[in-house]
Amino acid sequence: MTTPQLDTYIVEHRGGFESLLGQMVEIPSISMDPTKATDVRRMADLATQVLTEFGAEARIVETGGYPIVSGGWTAGAEYPTVTVYNHLDVQPAQEPEWQQAPFAFKNEGGIYRGRGATDDKGPALAVLFAARYAMDQGLPINIRFLWELEEEIGSPHFAAGLKDRSHIPRPDSVVVSDTIWIAKGQPAMPYGLRGLVGARLTLRTGSKDAHSGVTGGAARNPLAELMEVAHACVNAKTGEVTIPGFYHDVVKATKEEIKSFLKSGFQVKRFKEAYGLHALRTDDPAEVMRRIWAAPTFEIHGLTGGYHGPGVKTVVPGHGELKVTMRLVPNQTPEKAFALLKKYVSKLNPDVKVQPEGMLHPFKGSFDGTYVECVKRAAKAGFGKEPAFIREGGSIGAVVTMQKAWKVPILFLGLSLPEHGYHAPNEYFDWGQASGGMKAFAQYFAELAKMEKR
Ligand SMILES: [Zn+2]
Repeated sequence: MTTPQLDTYIVEHRGGFESLLGQMVEIPSISMDPTKATDVRRMADLATQVLTEFGAEARIVETGGYPIVSGGWTAGAEYPTVTVYNHLDVQPAQEPEWQQAPFAFKNEGGIYRGRGATDDKGPALAVLFAARYAMDQGLPINIRFLWELEEEIGSPHFAAGLKDRSHIPRPDSVVVSDTIWIAKGQPAMPYGLRGLVGARLTLRTGSKDAHSGVTGGAARNPLAELMEVAHACVNAKTGEVTIPGFYHDVVKATKEEIKSFLKSGFQVKRFKEAYGLHALRTDDPAEVMRRIWAAPTFEIHGLTGGYHGPGVKTVVPGHGELKVTMRLVPNQTPEKAFALLKKYVSKLNPDVKVQPEGMLHPFKGSFDGTYVECVKRAAKAGFGKEPAFIREGGSIGAVVTMQKAWKVPILFLGLSLPEHGYHAPNEYFDWGQASGGMKAFAQYFAELAKMEKR
């Protein structure tokens, strides 16, 4: 990559980038809102049109839900193929804190305001401009785009879409641009995601609520029994999960991984402020990051049943429900974690019913190796610094689906900053991250072009 030439390209295309981002942000492609179905479709049409205007092949692939936009450039079948994953659906934007109409794009001198600007339309477009540049240079590489429109609702039809191998071919590697750095000025790229399994624990001990003055003492109390079960599953003070066998498959984070986490710019104080947390189970930064990214959890989200109004009503509830989830790390599986929970609960209290609520597998990509070296050089070229490799505490369903379907390396090269307001009011993206992203991706494609086809 000749830098002065790339710099000129980026400067010359700033107007084009801004105008396209404006058009995309102004389509309220909220996948969660059924009344916006036409807009989500319109987004797919615009994306296809944009790819075509860029000179790429493009098509809409039907999935049974919202479609996937698939397209790209083929330089030659003998060259390596990279698929870039982004999504073009967005979160709803009903928060009262919005200082503008969320779907009226505003460009304030390189600050791009509007829902979807940073998640994930801005990054998607930055990669597209970089890819166009890489193809203009005649790089021996095939670049494909996979633009999903159901990411914000958990990618329910993504796996079905990937079955269309003729329109969504298996690449040699994938790069995902849909993640957030920990601090501005320090690129941070995840290589792992936690998985998840939810469960509802229900217990019925009577056909209706009864009066404790009449039945109390003899009647069983389902809320107390469910609390006993919860208490047996997790240590409330330390967070340690006490389900037998739960930690058996956990691969512990290595010293090198923790050292890498510490380079991300993570600050305990900022973390507490961002989420309004008064106190944590630990204040040691390495331990906080290990716990939120690389360790499993058992979380209680709700206990329902009985009386919830003002004051105290003396009922003995007839029914109770405990809502829990477990975050999982490699090599745990949601199936096994759920089975362990169910077995343990049936031993603790055979009357409690345990029903699963959604399962997502954890993901662990490469922490070192050739592709990781490419990501390092790309981030350095784009932002002047090598990235810290971190993990994410959440889950991206599409990533696990691609790993399962293709079994190829999946790398992350995210461009969003914490202050951009992912899933929050007053979301924005900025030219610094967009132009740095174009440089980073131009470098990344040049690095991949040097690699052998797998
Ligand atoms: Zn996103």
